[in-house]
Amino acid sequence: DNKTHLGREKADRATRDQVLDKRTEAIIEHMVRKELISELQGVISTGKEANVYAAPLYTYDDETGTQTGTHYRAAKIYKTSILSFVDRERYITGEHRFRNGGHKGNNRKMVKKWAEKEFRNLQRLNRAGLACPYPIQLKANVLLMEFLGDGQGHAYPRLRDVELEGVDDNDIAQQWRQLYIQLLGLVRRLYHVCRLVHADLSEYNILYHEHVLYLIDVSQSVGHDHPQTFDFLRMDLHNIGAFFRRKGVDTLRDRTVFEFVTSSSGGTQHADDPVADAAAAAEAVEQLYAARPTPSQGADEKADTEAMAALEVDNEVFRTQYIPQSLHQIYDEGMVARGDGPVGGVEALHAKDSLYRNLLAGDKKSDADAEEDDEDGGADVHDHDGG
Ligand code: ADP
Ligand code: MG
Repeated sequence: DNKTHLGREKADRATRDQVLDKRTEAIIEHMVRKELISELQGVISTGKEANVYAAPLYTYDDETGTQTGTHYRAAKIYKTSILSFVDRERYITGEHRFRNGGHKGNNRKMVKKWAEKEFRNLQRLNRAGLACPYPIQLKANVLLMEFLGDGQGHAYPRLRDVELEGVDDNDIAQQWRQLYIQLLGLVRRLYHVCRLVHADLSEYNILYHEHVLYLIDVSQSVGHDHPQTFDFLRMDLHNIGAFFRRKGVDTLRDRTVFEFVTSSSGGTQHADDPVADAAAAAEAVEQLYAARPTPSQGADEKADTEAMAALEVDNEVFRTQYIPQSLHQIYDEGMVARGDGPVGGVEALHAKDSLYRNLLAGDKKSDADAEEDDEDGGADVHDHDGG
């Protein structure tokens, strides 16, 4: 069969260039045979843990056999053990402990777990109507998903690389501000509806196209039951704030944004309607802006500089401040007694800081939902084909 042969050739080339191991190669060949893709094309990204390839699927006219179109997909291939994970020089220069498969099996299992996690998290995001790649198929360390890009196989730019176009500087500044607000809404929806924290959110893991932000790279995203959920969330929000400030956006305080994301009031009002949810979130953010002491807009430069410096300090304090990581931790009185936790126990927390109140309120809707999610999402992981 000519198609398969072509795919095979290209897969071989990719193998040579990017060192796919034999099993990964076999998975790709299988996907070609199943006509999920026609070949692995150019590498879009080479990362520490994974490479991402554009994978076109060609369509042919049944009668004539001529190619009628190309539909792109993206293949994220997690690197497995020996050939790419392990520093190859060390391997070549005689450290042979991996050669007999010592860690090979375990690495494979570990990598498979990550790929599976990313697949399931993408399903969760999709179910919540968040913009992200649609997951198509998962086989071991190969995740096939919707390609976010144009019809020629060019991926949408990462937010980091975006150059917005507008009629003037003010227009562009407004667009950046809108993207900032959009993203805060996404993070909130991710938190309340998917019950996830991205945990590696930055301008590198967001793609942009026509005013829409797409979340990607969710293999490390964690549920509310993870002991470090709130640390990851603070880190995510810190990264976002820093990025948009560099773009000239007048950002809200990290603390304010954290409250906005975790607050249960309004967070799930529009669980079934992503558009209404985005609008409600944008409105809520505008209210947070309105509630702030207004900057002088350049009229008083000294005051503005001081306000900026105060903001930086506040963000830094918030970043390093103790936040209970889970309900269990708050209620672990042993911890409080040992002096490991906040002084004054739960009651004091309630009274002191609305932040904790939000967290407590939000946590009452137990993680049972999330687990259910995983079950129905997990059942068809291996042969899910969204087409
Ligand atoms: P890594 O773990 O290596 O960071 P990512 O999931 O972030 O992997 O993907 C790396 C890069 O590949 C992204 O920055 C993006 O440019 C590109 N990419 C990933 N997924 C897709 C996709 N579905 N469509 C288009 N490009 C993608
Ligand atoms: Mg990434």
